[in-house]
Amino acid sequence: MAASLEDVPSMELMTELLRRMKCSSKPDKRVILVGPPGCGKGTQSPLIKDEFCLCHLATGDMLRAAVAAKTPLGIKAKEAMDKGELVSDDLVVGIIDEAMKKTSCQKGFILDGFPRTVVQAQKLDEMLAKQGTKIDKVLNFAIDDAILEERITGRWIHPSSGRSYHTKFAPPKTPGLDDVSHTRLLALACICQVTGEPLIQRKDDTAAVLKSRLEAFHVQTKPVIDYYTKKGIVANLHAEKPPKEVTVEVQKALS
Ligand code: ADP
Ligand code: AMP
Repeated sequence: MAASLEDVPSMELMTELLRRMKCSSKPDKRVILVGPPGCGKGTQSPLIKDEFCLCHLATGDMLRAAVAAKTPLGIKAKEAMDKGELVSDDLVVGIIDEAMKKTSCQKGFILDGFPRTVVQAQKLDEMLAKQGTKIDKVLNFAIDDAILEERITGRWIHPSSGRSYHTKFAPPKTPGLDDVSHTRLLALACICQVTGEPLIQRKDDTAAVLKSRLEAFHVQTKPVIDYYTKKGIVANLHAEKPPKEVTVEVQKALS
């Protein structure tokens, strides 16, 4: 362990030390982000994660990684995901139960895309009750369906970090280029502004698959919002606003 730390550059060690010192004074938080595909959960998550020192658990990202690696879980999940339907409750509850044990979740977590059914919410509550904890806040990214097609079909993703860009609303920045040139560059060769690596479009980010995903949201996930509203822990956000304004609403809801 010590030997491997010796290989870590001093600057990285210092940055991590400072982060841990800052995090030691933060209270624990367990937060759920709920909303239809494209409402901005993945865009806001890294900001919440950094500010409140939480881990970010996105079931969609975990399932896509399992599909890409062709694990038994991925093989079971692929068909439903391709069609824009939900995978079985047991599969996702299992991966969340495991993921919450990570050291990076010590101060709490952001659940992004989970729970998506009332059964998942009940199972989550049971898991947390066993540890003597509970969900503190549910952020409901309320938005009109009509806005989502443009957001979903223009989304580009950096696969290894999950960072998302948008051809119109969030093009990667390249120093020295104006906005029009950024967008042209993105169209030609989609490159992550942080790592320079290629971006991809998700297979299910099409107008046709979005229809099934929205139906799953309205039929199966909306009741989850009612479930937590009854517990008095839901904050409703205006997710149609520009990203920075949504961030301000998120910060207010969590402070
Ligand atoms: P989700 O994780 O909820 O599916 P994302 O955060 O990936 O959604 O956002 C979907 C797309 O919309 C992305 O391309 C993102 O850059 C863009 N986007 C996110 N939030 C906003 C916003 N408030 N206004 C405009 N575009 C946004
Ligand atoms: P997302 O990345 O959140 O848009 O999720 C992509 C796909 O993964 C969904 O359309 C579902 O097929 C599947 N999925 C993700 N999270 C869940 C969940 N909590 N329950 C069931 N299916 C899920």
